[in-house]
Amino acid sequence: MRIGIVGGGGRMGQMLIREVLNTPGAKLSGATERPGAAAIGRDLGTLVGADPIGVLVTEDTAALFAASDAVIDFTAPPATVAHAALAVAHGTALIVGTTGLSPDDHAKLADAAGKAPLVVAANFSLGVTLLAGLVRKVAATLGPDWDIEVLEMHHRHKVDAPSGTALALGRAAAAGRGVDLADVKDAVRDGHTGARTPGDIGFATLRGGDVVGDHTVIFAAEAERLELTHKAGSRAIFARGAVRAALWVAGKAPGLYSMDDVLGL
Ligand code: NAD
Repeated sequence: MRIGIVGGGGRMGQMLIREVLNTPGAKLSGATERPGAAAIGRDLGTLVGADPIGVLVTEDTAALFAASDAVIDFTAPPATVAHAALAVAHGTALIVGTTGLSPDDHAKLADAAGKAPLVVAANFSLGVTLLAGLVRKVAATLGPDWDIEVLEMHHRHKVDAPSGTALALGRAAAAGRGVDLADVKDAVRDGHTGARTPGDIGFATLRGGDVVGDHTVIFAAEAERLELTHKAGSRAIFARGAVRAALWVAGKAPGLYSMDDVLGL
């Protein structure tokens, strides 16, 4: 299985290179970076603190897709949309971890998934995939007198808020209640907000330090509260899940797949 990494110089890109190098059955086909990035021309092995492998980071994205069975993409929304078009053009599978995608971006990915296999997940960890299933079940079980709030904290460099995972957990809660998150989402509270609107799903965002990703879904009623929490201790868990998805997607028909599909949940 030839696996390529776009954005190989990024925090997740380097994790992914390391994970592919250490995964039996996976062969690292190369890595790209955006034009002008410092990692261009670096050997992929030495870039991640391993022995040199004789393959360099390039900006030739089309060549990477041509040389790969699957490409893993943890970059930025405009790059990911362009990569989806290349996946279609080359018949390459695409694993998308990029967050902060707009509804229009998601529509373009869904379109590409008609012609190439795509695995898209806001969080590739096993724990969060299971958490989303639990949140859906709890929200479906508890009545509307239980308020639902999603709290997340990430490192100071994160550029989108609430996190893609927080939104995915909000969608899971909304699905459990049989509503659309867009109709009940309350992500901004500042100043005189008035009382909480019944049925809303609230979001609170914390940013600081090097926190990899903490998520808590709070179900609060009169006199009792249920909190479900996941804490990521290392980015390696996302890289492991994404490489697992790349190995799983080999030979799959075009389609839009999730981590539930990959894990057989
Ligand atoms: P980062 O800024 O460290 O890395 C992104 C890299 O992509 C950078 O090196 C950048 O130069 C590169 N890039 C941008 N445009 C490119 C292009 N056109 N071609 C090639 N490379 C390009 O960010 P990060 O912390 O690694 O996170 C990247 C994304 O992954 C974010 O959206 C983040 O939220 C998401 N993420 C998702 C998960 C998950 O499990 N789904 C986990 C962690 C991070």
